[in-house]
Amino acid sequence: MQDRAEFRVSVEKDYLVFASAHFITFAGHRCEALHGHNYRARVTVEGALNQESWFVFDFVELKKIMRRLCDEIDHLVLLPLESPRIQVVEDGERVNVSVDGKLRYVFPRRDCALLPIPNTTVEMLARMLASRLQRELYTQGARGLTAIEMEVEENFGQSAVYRVTLNVPS
Ligand SMILES: [Zn+2]
Repeated sequence: MQDRAEFRVSVEKDYLVFASAHFITFAGHRCEALHGHNYRARVTVEGALNQESWFVFDFVELKKIMRRLCDEIDHLVLLPLESPRIQVVEDGERVNVSVDGKLRYVFPRRDCALLPIPNTTVEMLARMLASRLQRELYTQGARGLTAIEMEVEENFGQSAVYRVTLNVPS
Protein backbone atom coordinates (compact mmCIF):
# COMPACT_ATOMS: atom_id res chain seq x y z
CA MET A 1 0.00 0.00 0.00
CA GLN A 2 1.26 3.43 -0.90
CA ASP A 3 1.43 6.36 1.48
CA ARG A 4 -0.91 9.17 0.63
CA ALA A 5 1.08 12.34 0.12
CA GLU A 6 0.00 15.75 -1.00
CA PHE A 7 1.56 19.11 -1.65
CA ARG A 8 0.38 22.64 -1.07
CA VAL A 9 1.34 25.58 -3.25
CA SER A 10 0.54 29.13 -2.23
CA VAL A 11 0.48 32.43 -4.03
CA GLU A 12 0.53 35.77 -2.27
CA LYS A 13 1.68 38.72 -4.35
CA ASP A 14 1.59 42.47 -4.06
CA TYR A 15 -0.50 42.70 -7.20
CA LEU A 16 -3.19 40.31 -5.93
CA VAL A 17 -5.14 43.23 -4.56
CA PHE A 18 -8.34 44.99 -5.47
CA ALA A 19 -9.27 48.43 -4.27
CA SER A 20 -13.03 48.38 -4.24
CA ALA A 21 -16.04 50.01 -2.63
CA HIS A 22 -18.80 48.14 -0.84
CA PHE A 23 -21.29 48.17 1.99
CA ILE A 24 -22.76 45.23 3.83
CA THR A 25 -26.00 44.61 5.65
CA PHE A 26 -26.15 43.12 9.11
CA ALA A 27 -28.85 41.07 10.81
CA GLY A 28 -31.82 43.24 11.64
CA HIS A 29 -32.01 46.59 9.86
CA ARG A 30 -28.42 47.74 10.14
CA CYS A 31 -26.59 48.59 6.97
CA GLU A 32 -23.17 50.14 6.46
CA ALA A 33 -22.44 53.32 4.55
CA LEU A 34 -20.51 52.98 1.30
CA HIS A 35 -16.75 52.76 1.90
CA GLY A 36 -13.67 51.13 0.41
CA HIS A 37 -10.90 48.66 1.16
CA ASN A 38 -7.62 47.65 -0.34
CA TYR A 39 -8.50 43.97 -0.42
CA ARG A 40 -5.78 41.37 -0.68
CA ALA A 41 -6.18 37.80 -1.91
CA ARG A 42 -4.04 34.84 -1.00
CA VAL A 43 -4.56 31.36 -2.41
CA THR A 44 -3.40 27.85 -1.61
CA VAL A 45 -3.98 24.93 -3.93
CA GLU A 46 -3.49 21.37 -2.69
CA GLY A 47 -3.13 18.17 -4.60
CA ALA A 48 -1.05 15.42 -6.01
CA LEU A 49 2.07 16.01 -8.04
CA ASN A 50 1.64 16.07 -11.76
CA GLN A 51 3.87 13.14 -12.72
CA GLU A 52 5.19 14.78 -15.86
CA SER A 53 5.98 18.22 -14.50
CA TRP A 54 6.62 17.49 -10.81
CA PHE A 55 4.42 20.33 -9.69
CA VAL A 56 0.84 20.54 -8.39
CA PHE A 57 -0.08 23.38 -10.70
CA ASP A 58 1.99 25.83 -12.70
CA PHE A 59 2.74 28.90 -10.56
CA VAL A 60 2.88 31.15 -13.60
CA GLU A 61 -0.61 30.12 -14.66
CA LEU A 62 -1.98 30.28 -11.11
CA LYS A 63 -0.66 33.84 -10.71
CA LYS A 64 -2.10 34.85 -14.07
CA ILE A 65 -5.56 33.52 -13.22
CA MET A 66 -5.54 35.14 -9.78
CA ARG A 67 -4.43 38.46 -11.22
CA ARG A 68 -7.24 38.37 -13.75
CA LEU A 69 -9.83 37.54 -11.07
CA CYS A 70 -8.63 40.46 -8.93
CA ASP A 71 -8.49 42.85 -11.90
CA GLU A 72 -12.10 41.99 -12.75
CA ILE A 73 -13.34 43.61 -9.52
CA ASP A 74 -10.60 46.22 -8.99
CA HIS A 75 -11.70 49.89 -8.81
CA LEU A 76 -15.37 49.00 -8.83
CA VAL A 77 -18.33 49.15 -6.50
CA LEU A 78 -19.02 45.57 -5.39
CA LEU A 79 -22.76 44.84 -5.33
CA PRO A 80 -24.50 41.62 -4.28
CA LEU A 81 -27.13 40.18 -6.62
CA GLU A 82 -28.45 37.61 -4.15
CA SER A 83 -29.18 39.80 -1.15
CA PRO A 84 -32.67 39.60 0.30
CA ARG A 85 -32.35 43.26 1.39
CA ILE A 86 -30.29 44.99 -1.30
CA GLN A 87 -31.98 45.33 -4.67
CA VAL A 88 -29.64 45.91 -7.60
CA VAL A 89 -31.41 46.90 -10.80
CA GLU A 90 -29.68 47.69 -14.09
CA ASP A 91 -31.26 50.61 -15.90
CA GLY A 92 -29.38 51.25 -19.13
CA GLU A 93 -26.09 52.94 -18.25
CA ARG A 94 -27.01 53.10 -14.58
CA VAL A 95 -27.45 50.76 -11.67
CA ASN A 96 -30.07 51.61 -9.07
CA VAL A 97 -29.36 50.22 -5.62
CA SER A 98 -32.11 50.10 -3.02
CA VAL A 99 -31.91 48.91 0.55
CA ASP A 100 -35.08 47.55 2.11
CA GLY A 101 -37.02 48.94 -0.83
CA LYS A 102 -35.70 52.51 -0.62
CA LEU A 103 -33.46 53.85 -3.39
CA ARG A 104 -30.09 54.59 -1.86
CA TYR A 105 -27.48 54.85 -4.64
CA VAL A 106 -27.31 55.31 -8.38
CA PHE A 107 -23.98 54.28 -9.93
CA PRO A 108 -22.70 54.29 -13.50
CA ARG A 109 -22.98 50.66 -14.71
CA ARG A 110 -19.33 50.58 -15.83
CA ASP A 111 -18.18 51.33 -12.28
CA CYS A 112 -20.01 48.37 -10.74
CA ALA A 113 -19.27 44.68 -10.33
CA LEU A 114 -22.55 42.78 -9.95
CA LEU A 115 -21.67 39.65 -8.02
CA PRO A 116 -23.58 36.37 -7.51
CA ILE A 117 -23.35 36.55 -3.71
CA PRO A 118 -25.79 37.47 -0.88
CA ASN A 119 -23.57 40.04 0.88
CA THR A 120 -20.16 41.52 0.07
CA THR A 121 -18.45 40.18 3.19
CA VAL A 122 -14.89 38.87 2.91
CA GLU A 123 -16.31 35.39 3.50
CA MET A 124 -18.54 35.61 0.43
CA LEU A 125 -15.83 37.27 -1.67
CA ALA A 126 -13.43 34.45 -0.74
CA ARG A 127 -15.99 31.80 -1.69
CA MET A 128 -16.72 33.53 -4.99
CA LEU A 129 -13.04 33.85 -5.90
CA ALA A 130 -12.45 30.19 -4.96
CA SER A 131 -15.25 28.98 -7.23
CA ARG A 132 -14.07 31.17 -10.10
CA LEU A 133 -10.54 29.86 -9.64
CA GLN A 134 -11.80 26.27 -9.52
CA ARG A 135 -13.58 26.74 -12.84
CA GLU A 136 -10.45 28.27 -14.43
CA LEU A 137 -8.22 25.48 -13.13
CA TYR A 138 -10.49 22.79 -14.56
CA THR A 139 -10.75 24.65 -17.84
CA GLN A 140 -6.97 24.67 -18.02
CA GLY A 141 -6.88 20.93 -17.46
CA ALA A 142 -5.72 20.82 -13.84
CA ARG A 143 -5.91 17.27 -12.49
CA GLY A 144 -5.48 15.75 -9.06
CA LEU A 145 -6.29 18.90 -7.07
CA THR A 146 -7.78 18.10 -3.68
CA ALA A 147 -8.48 21.51 -2.13
CA ILE A 148 -8.50 25.23 -2.72
CA GLU A 149 -8.09 27.67 0.12
CA MET A 150 -8.83 31.33 -0.58
CA GLU A 151 -8.12 34.10 1.87
CA VAL A 152 -9.42 37.62 1.42
CA GLU A 153 -8.18 40.38 3.70
CA GLU A 154 -10.05 43.67 3.90
CA ASN A 155 -7.94 45.36 6.54
CA PHE A 156 -4.52 44.61 7.88
CA GLY A 157 -4.92 41.48 10.02
CA GLN A 158 -8.63 41.11 9.26
CA SER A 159 -9.47 38.37 6.81
CA ALA A 160 -11.61 35.35 6.04
CA VAL A 161 -10.51 32.00 4.67
CA TYR A 162 -12.73 29.80 2.55
CA ARG A 163 -11.68 26.21 1.98
CA VAL A 164 -13.27 23.84 -0.48
CA THR A 165 -12.38 20.16 -0.79
CA LEU A 166 -12.47 18.95 -4.37
CA ASN A 167 -13.61 15.58 -5.60
CA VAL A 168 -10.76 13.99 -7.45
CA PRO A 169 -11.98 12.13 -10.51
CA SER A 170 -10.83 8.50 -10.13
ZN1 LIG B 1 -16.05 47.15 4.48
